[in-house]
Amino acid sequence: TYIVTENCIRCKYTDCVEVCPVDCFYEGPNFLVIHPDECIDCGLCEPECPADAILHEDDLSDAQEIYFQLNTELSEIW
Ligand code: SF4
Repeated sequence: TYIVTENCIRCKYTDCVEVCPVDCFYEGPNFLVIHPDECIDCGLCEPECPADAILHEDDLSDAQEIYFQLNTELSEIW
């Protein structure tokens, strides 16, 4: 799955949302998130992000691991 990370915070672009074939982006408190169970790993959104905020889960740094949980929780409850 792909995960949205800190560079998305307060980013105003939604190019990623428009290309997602399964509509698995959700609006969080101040950034977008991807529902990890709904993402089909197509990779289309990654190059569309002007902030380089979207990473494959395998490419998250240790400090970014928290975003996996945040994407899951915020896409379900926010
Ligand atoms: Fe949507 Fe594909 Fe990006 Fe997953 S990788 S969030 S399915 S565009």
